[in-house]
Amino acid sequence: MPKHLPTHLNPRSPLVLDTRELPRRPGVLRTVARTAPAPADLGLELIGVPEGAELSLDLRLESVSEGVLVSGTVTGPVKGECGRCLRPITDSLVVPIQELYAYEHSTTVETTEEDEVGRMQGDLIDLEPVLRDAVVLALPTNPVCREDCPGLCPECGVQWDELPADHSHQQVDSRWAGLSQLTRQEE
Ligand SMILES: [Zn+2]
Ligand SMILES: [Zn+2]
Repeated sequence: MPKHLPTHLNPRSPLVLDTRELPRRPGVLRTVARTAPAPADLGLELIGVPEGAELSLDLRLESVSEGVLVSGTVTGPVKGECGRCLRPITDSLVVPIQELYAYEHSTTVETTEEDEVGRMQGDLIDLEPVLRDAVVLALPTNPVCREDCPGLCPECGVQWDELPADHSHQQVDSRWAGLSQLTRQEE
């Protein structure tokens, strides 16, 4: 079973590449530079590219014997939450992309699985699945605001950064309570 049924691609969608202008002759190159709004749910649970944020695509399309090799980078903003202290994280991301898209009815299509080699639909290439994989791979599964983020005090839930160095919730053992009262009286 294919992971997703082929949908009819919209050639005007910014994440769809139209290769009509690219001659099907191995070695021919075209570059594509464009921006595209980020699709929904691009990322992980705690961190990702906000929907609609501007992605910059800098791609190279190269005709190879049985399809088109797409390579380049995608750049975009990242927003998330620190997994330790829950503070917001703002960052940016540059992900490399490289994928071979085989021509319809080519031997490559007939001899490979859909998740091994991308498929073209006519002259069109759908960048979204590859973009998703690349972004998810580039994002940290446990995002932190900084490497040494100390997180939250487990007792009161306040960020350690906001607490004095000697912050503690040490309860005086009841057996010592009387003693500490004595000490206080002496003071
Ligand atoms: Zn943090
Ligand atoms: Zn505390």
